[in-house]
Formats: sequence, structure tokens, C-alpha cells
Amino acid sequence: MKVRNDIKEFISTIPNNVTLVAATKYVDAVEMKTLFANGVTNFGENRVDAFLNKYDALKDLEITWHFIGHLQRNKAKEVINKIDYLHSLDSLKLADEIEKYRSTPLNTFVEVSINLEESKNGVPYYQTEEFIKSLLKYKKINLVGLMMMTIKESEDKESQFAKLVELKKKIETNLNIKIPYLSMGMSEDYFDAIKEGATHIRLGRILFNE
Ligand SMILES: *Cc1c(COP(=O)(O)O)cnc(C)c1O
Repeated sequence: MKVRNDIKEFISTIPNNVTLVAATKYVDAVEMKTLFANGVTNFGENRVDAFLNKYDALKDLEITWHFIGHLQRNKAKEVINKIDYLHSLDSLKLADEIEKYRSTPLNTFVEVSINLEESKNGVPYYQTEEFIKSLLKYKKINLVGLMMMTIKESEDKESQFAKLVELKKKIETNLNIKIPYLSMGMSEDYFDAIKEGATHIRLGRILFNE
């Protein structure tokens, strides 16, 4: 896949207060340079090996690196000091690895499973408050937001996003904390996600064409 020709115009349609994280699993470092040249500075990878290759290939560019995929505990220490944001924290075992190996507090989103029956990753939404409560004692975890994926088949994406917004408010009130960000919305549903309050959208396919 290649970066779409009208990428500049496409980017200009995204509201300024929303961070576009380019999901780059479909492309190589060359295409990522093209994205960068067009003003995209936030990149999200979802596999450790691909991330490490691209990180090395692009180390001369001032990229903000996001890890957006499931991160296996045994691979965490390879990436944990190279990324700026983790979108997929979903276990205390992974949090323990971060606590052990990360040098400075890591900006972290907790991945929430809003649709329990379909998604295998993420903290079940009804356990998220407990989970976050446990995280508060970790010095190397700077909780910045909640992240979710929608169910592809479902028509009603808006109510799935709204559920995460509600959960965020409830946790903020009950734990008396501030959770500034919401990472939600992909190529097919980012428009609804923005409408519901996404601060970070993770876009892949829509940035590229064959
Ligand atoms: C690939 C990926 C995306 C982007 O998906 P598209 O449908 O291609 O926009 C977003 N989030 C995660 C975690 C991904 O792996």
C-alpha cells in the first residue's frame, strides 16, 4: 500500500484538537517517511518486531511513537523505553513489566473491552474501575486515557463509543482523578468517534491505497 495522493487534503479534514495516530502496519518505513513529510508525526505500530525495525529506520525523524496493539508481557521490555504512548495496557502483569523496565513514567491508555463477547483483548468494562484503582500505585504508569475498538459487524458504533465516554466519567468521579484522553475510532468509524469525544483516532487503511 502507498500513501494516498490527496493525503494533505484528507488530514485537513480532521479537527485540530484531535490527534491523528497513523496505524502503519500496512506500510514500510518509506511510506512512513512520506506521511511524515506531509505532517503526520504520530505513528502507531501493533507488532513488536515491525515496530523495532521501523523505529531504527526512522530514528532521525522526530516521531511520537504509539504502541497500539496487544503487547505481550515477555516482549514488553524491548519496546517500553522507545515509545511515547502505550494504548493497550490490559493486565497488571504488563504493568509490572513497565514498572520494572521503564525509566520515566509512560503515558498509558487502558484498553477497555466494551463488547465483551467479541474482543479478546482489553479489560472488561465492568472491571476497569478496579483495574485503574490498582494502577494508581504504579510510579511508571502515567494514566492518560482509555482506548477501545468497536465490533466491526455492528451498525451502532456511536453507542459503543458513548459507553466508553460514560465509563470514563464514572471512573473520574468515583476515583477522583482526571482521565484526559479517549483513543477510539478507526478508518470505518472515526467520524462517529470524534462526534462522541475521541481525542486520538487511530487510522490505517484510509490513509493508503493499493
Ligand atoms: C490496524 C489498527 C487500527 C487501524 O485500523 P484501520 O481500520 O486500518 O483504520 C487501529 N487500531 C489498531 C489497534 C490497529 O491494529
